[in-house]
Amino acid sequence: MNAPLAHWLIKQRADLFPRWTTLLNHAPAVVASGMGAYEPGSLPELDEQSRVHPDEQHILLTSLYDSFIQAADGEMASLDEGMRLLRALRITSGEEELLGHIELIARLRRAVWDSLAADVTPGWYQIGVEFDQLTEHATNSLVSNWVSRASSTNRELQETRLLVENLSHEAEVSDRTTLHVSRINEISQGLSTTFDQTQQIAIVGTKLAETLQGVAVVIWQRDQHDCLRAAWLWEPDMQPASQTVPDWCISIDDPNDILAYAFRGSDMLITQELDQATQGPWYHPASVVLAMPLITQGRASGVIALQEQGGLVLLERSEQEFIRSAASQAAIALENARLYAEVRSFNAVLEQHIAKRTSELQVERDTLETLNTIALETSSTLDEHLLMQHSLGAVARLVEADRGSISLLDRETDQLVVSEVLGRSENVGYVRFPLGRGILGWVAQHRKAALVPDIQADPRWIDLPEDEEDQHTRNGSMIVVPLIAHHELQGVLVLSHDRAGFFTEEHLRLVEASSSQIATGIHNALMYKQVEQDLLRRYEMQQAQEQAVSQSNAILQSLSDGVIVCDGFGSVITVNPAAERILERPLEELLIWNMPELFRRLMGRRADELPVESLLNDPTDAQGNPQVFSAIFQIGTRVVSATLNPVLSNEKHTPMGALAVFRDITREVESDRLKTEFIGTVSHELRTPMTSIKGFTQLLAMGSLGPTNETQREFLGIIQNNAERMIAIINDLLDITKIETGSVELDMRPLHLAEALSNVVMELQPKIQERSHELSISLPPGLPLVRADQRRFNQILLNLVSNAIKYTPRNGQISLDAREVTLDLVPEVLHEGLKTGGRYVQVEVRDSGVGIAPEEVDRIFERFYRTENPLKVEAGGTGLGLALVRPLVSLFGGRIWVESKLGEGSSFRFILPAL
Ligand code: ADP
Repeated sequence: MNAPLAHWLIKQRADLFPRWTTLLNHAPAVVASGMGAYEPGSLPELDEQSRVHPDEQHILLTSLYDSFIQAADGEMASLDEGMRLLRALRITSGEEELLGHIELIARLRRAVWDSLAADVTPGWYQIGVEFDQLTEHATNSLVSNWVSRASSTNRELQETRLLVENLSHEAEVSDRTTLHVSRINEISQGLSTTFDQTQQIAIVGTKLAETLQGVAVVIWQRDQHDCLRAAWLWEPDMQPASQTVPDWCISIDDPNDILAYAFRGSDMLITQELDQATQGPWYHPASVVLAMPLITQGRASGVIALQEQGGLVLLERSEQEFIRSAASQAAIALENARLYAEVRSFNAVLEQHIAKRTSELQVERDTLETLNTIALETSSTLDEHLLMQHSLGAVARLVEADRGSISLLDRETDQLVVSEVLGRSENVGYVRFPLGRGILGWVAQHRKAALVPDIQADPRWIDLPEDEEDQHTRNGSMIVVPLIAHHELQGVLVLSHDRAGFFTEEHLRLVEASSSQIATGIHNALMYKQVEQDLLRRYEMQQAQEQAVSQSNAILQSLSDGVIVCDGFGSVITVNPAAERILERPLEELLIWNMPELFRRLMGRRADELPVESLLNDPTDAQGNPQVFSAIFQIGTRVVSATLNPVLSNEKHTPMGALAVFRDITREVESDRLKTEFIGTVSHELRTPMTSIKGFTQLLAMGSLGPTNETQREFLGIIQNNAERMIAIINDLLDITKIETGSVELDMRPLHLAEALSNVVMELQPKIQERSHELSISLPPGLPLVRADQRRFNQILLNLVSNAIKYTPRNGQISLDAREVTLDLVPEVLHEGLKTGGRYVQVEVRDSGVGIAPEEVDRIFERFYRTENPLKVEAGGTGLGLALVRPLVSLFGGRIWVESKLGEGSSFRFILPAL
């Protein structure tokens, strides 16, 4: 701590600071050269460059001055800092800087001594010495500072040198890289100029050889046999002109060959020690080999093989990178070239397809145009000849045929008839080909088109007679197609040309395409013709029908019987004038009601006898015959008979309605009544004289009036017999008359059948014996009683049994059978008026006689009706017996019917309600 120096420096700042500032503003070099000759006014100015800005300078000097004060106070470190600050004063440069600074310190010292000398204070010398010590320290500090900086600079210099060396190496590498880049560029440009793989390989190979001086290059490509084949080769001692590629080939599966190995591994390989024996002829012994596969999208397509004696180039990393880049470029370019080739071949195929399709479309368009023309032709007319003429012309023009014809199939004879010949409108229709005969017949039979290149050479060809020749050709070629519409053969179309082989498959296709149109057109035209004929026929039929209807109407109008017709629902549709007259109703009234209602109004409850509704529902009986109902009723003073029939369709059984016929039978009924009355009166009147004839004849025969001879007795017997027959007839007639007039008197009481039967059998026994018949009787015990008039009941039985005796040849069989029955065993037609659940007793008289023909079975119950049979004369009779039996059975509430077979016998059955 030297407080006096510090104090002095503080005190002297005003004096000393300006001096130092002046010293500082002048060049140290000058200071150095004029060392010791300091003249404040004569100091040279520092140049602009070296001068520090005044503000900076002031701060710097203040710090320097303060560092001396602090050093005077013992803080030497601040003086060291002050010395380091001096460097900021760019007094001199380079090596002179230290000297300049030492010089400056010396000047500052001088200035201090000058100041001490000028202002002598006690202890000034000590202050000066102390300051000298500080300057010494400052100088030392400057020197050590400088030395340490010099050594660091030296170190920096060393580093810089090293850096420079490095940079120059880098530059060399960079040059090579630049070369490589430019070669890669060239390769890239070269590759982009061509899609030819050979050229591309040559470009890559050449550039590799140029760049890698002294290196042998072989480029291998994988072929379709999975071999690596040499595609390009360069040897260092080779002239480019003499470059030929040997036929080298390595299997990609070769386990030893280094190139195959690299190809499989898809990565670069460098090797120096290869056994020559395991490698192909491409290998130069003792060379470094670099195998670089050509890879695109992870797939190897070839290998670049490089070899070099010594391997200086190949072992360089940058060369390897260059090779890798070149290989990559090459692989991409080759792949692109391959794709390009593929695309081109694809394009070529596509173009071929397009060309083919275009020509197909052309043909299709032609076909469509023709089809359109033919469609127009076929749809423009329904005249089959016009249609065939036009369409034949169109299709012949289409295939440039010389001749053409259409033959239609005659379905009746199964022959093809030439119906249209191109250019001719007459003399057609007389040439016929049976199916299967000739080419036309073959086509028709097989329904297959025929393309005949040479007619004469075709085995199916048949020569036609001379006069028909012009319709067909004898030489040349022919197309024959079947005309098929709706799966039916219409005919065949023939087109021919004088030149053999003229027609092609294409012609055939066109004709075939047109054929269905033509066939359909012909089919339609023929159909139209048929429909036209059908319509005409129908019109004629309708005319005939209308005529028939008007005839029927006329008949209906003029009929004397009344006719009313109703439809299937019962509505009245036709009424003739006779119906108006007979039914005494105006037409409107008859038409307004439906038939059932009309009948109710006309007949009241008896309308049930004409059941229209049930007839309409069920118009036929069990045997399928139309049901017929009839009734007789009274309208005013008229007696009208009505018959109701179903109207059935032609197919039968389908009810279309019903027809009622009304006949005015007033006069018939009246005359019948008069006749019956007359018969009754006459019979009555005849019976009295007949009775006396019989009585007197009996007296004569008995001899009461005198003796008679044999002949007289015989004659009297005959008279007696005939009188009895006459009386029997008269009795029958009287009985019938009574029944018909309703005047018969009946004594109805319960009757034992067994008793009645035995009476009758007893009465007829002599006759049975006379004819040697065998009689059997069957009467079950407990047979119910019946209610009847005994005399009349006997009359019934007598009639039936005596008929059985009469109409059965001798030695016949007769049976009588009685039993209780239900209605099931009674014919259905007889059910009307009977109780369905009622009990009935049936009596059957069966014989093995002559029998009755089916058509006569119903008639035997009519009055005086007798069948023609062998026993007719022998049996004798009046035909009145059964006419009496039937109404009598009915009067007892029963029914009678007969079953018979001609020549075999008959069975008469009747039923009566059981009690
Ligand atoms: P007839 O007096 O002629 O016997 P009927 O009225 O009794 O008159 O019979 C009518 C006709 O019916 C007969 O003439 C006969 O032709 C026929 N007939 C009746 N019964 C029989 C029978 N059992 N076998 C064959 N034909 C018969």
